[in-house]
Amino acid sequence: MIDNEVYDLNTMNMDFYLKCPYCNKGKFYSYDGSKGKGSSLCNICRNIVLWDFDKREAYKATTRKYVS
Ligand SMILES: [Zn+2]
Repeated sequence: MIDNEVYDLNTMNMDFYLKCPYCNKGKFYSYDGSKGKGSSLCNICRNIVLWDFDKREAYKATTRKYVS
């Protein structure tokens, strides 16, 4: 992992994007066929979103508890 490496997303192959189910403004972009699911904070409204890349849907989600 190189800390200073910056990817130019414009040069990558975007295949679809998902919209935040809360605000409809935040977007998650998929490159080269993302699979499975992922969760992240919406960068606009800061709610937790579960992104389902297989179904290409986004769902409202609750915060995951940290386990030690
Ligand atoms: Zn949002």
